[in-house]
Amino acid sequence: MPESIPVATADTPSPSGDAGVGSPKSPFSKHILLTTYPDQNGVDPVPLQWGAPDAKTRGPIIASRNLSQLKRRNAMGAHGGSYSIYNALAIAAGDLPTDFKPDFRNTEPTFEFPTQPAWGDPKKIVSLDPFGHDVMKNFREYLDVGWDLRPSMAVTRANMRLAEIEKAVSEGKLEVDGSIVVDKNGDVRVTKVACEPVWYLPGVAERFGVDEGTLRRMLFEHTGGSYPELITRPDLKVFLPPIGGLTVYIFGPPERVSDENVPLALRIHDECNGSDVFQSDICTCRPYLAFGIQEAIKQAQNGGSGVVIYFRKEGRALGEVVKYLVYNARKRGGDTADKYFLRTENIAGVRDMRFQALMPDILHWLGIKKIDRMLSMSNMKYDAIVAQGIKILERVPIPDDMIPQDSRVEIDAKINAGYFTTGKKFTTEELSQVKGRGWEKWEDVTDPMGIL
Ligand SMILES: [Zn+2]
Repeated sequence: MPESIPVATADTPSPSGDAGVGSPKSPFSKHILLTTYPDQNGVDPVPLQWGAPDAKTRGPIIASRNLSQLKRRNAMGAHGGSYSIYNALAIAAGDLPTDFKPDFRNTEPTFEFPTQPAWGDPKKIVSLDPFGHDVMKNFREYLDVGWDLRPSMAVTRANMRLAEIEKAVSEGKLEVDGSIVVDKNGDVRVTKVACEPVWYLPGVAERFGVDEGTLRRMLFEHTGGSYPELITRPDLKVFLPPIGGLTVYIFGPPERVSDENVPLALRIHDECNGSDVFQSDICTCRPYLAFGIQEAIKQAQNGGSGVVIYFRKEGRALGEVVKYLVYNARKRGGDTADKYFLRTENIAGVRDMRFQALMPDILHWLGIKKIDRMLSMSNMKYDAIVAQGIKILERVPIPDDMIPQDSRVEIDAKINAGYFTTGKKFTTEELSQVKGRGWEKWEDVTDPMGIL
């Protein structure tokens, strides 16, 4: 920590009244500062030592561009992940003062996760701030004198109710134990951890096997030049990217998760809104998610621990627009499992953009050293976890009776491409016989090309 913490509010005007950019009351200068340079007058980032063993030695992450902090910032980007844009809109619309400082009273975690050695290991955690949940405790002296620091993680608890879990309870497949499954309606108690991305660029570059300069240049170019300091400030190593984060759902006592002697069932799930929420039957996402939750609950009820981690990586991180274009290409071009990945590659250039290389960071944060039951068939997730030195003892495929008929195209193509299964593996010839439902029964579908 710096010897003295400057009072951030000293030259920060009051938020009241007209505080438009350039006005005497605005915390932003009239002159638009497009970028900064390391040797610029007054530029003096608060020390940030990524991989330090404790929060105070590591230092706070400071991303605000308010005048009082601009030259002392030690991180690029903005808090909130993809929601940072809505924050900008709220300020532009006048709904939020430019120098608003949140009141964090009573927002502390509902469970104090034990500090893990990985929190101080710059190789094990590169894409989240391991101290991001305890900003109020670790950096209170900064907050007290007006610095704009934000938590990038939050820990809470809740009850949840899923139709599949309610059904499992009513059929006697899951018992009501009063603690995890609290009643016969299938209400389940859960501890949740929300996490926004905070990237340590040298570590991210290393995970992908590229040099840091290339990574910075590509991030700069392909965000429309939005973050020029990726180029001009090589001394700033931390970037808060405008992308979605993740949520951890823990079933059973959260202190069990990091205990190596307790069996752990785990599902890593990547977002698929159409299936997860709206229950489209073209893929296995929601059934596998429900199966994962059910198995996680069972493990916790048997004295173990159950964890489901939900990543905001919609449509294999290609987004829903690309996803729907792919659906159309599949349905119009003959929806067979042998062509499944080709349709995505034609449109997106790749079959998958999820890059699981950063995913294991959250497992390190939780203190997970081995997974007894991995509720996933993905070879990419498996390889990424094992590459991080976390053992996987058993891989559990989705049961056949939970696979919707129309999603056989997806699951059989994935199995053929290397996804884990204990069941049948198809030849390419057989895959060409696994067909999706098509659009034949839609009243508005005509078939001028004769391809349906
Ligand atoms: Zn899906």
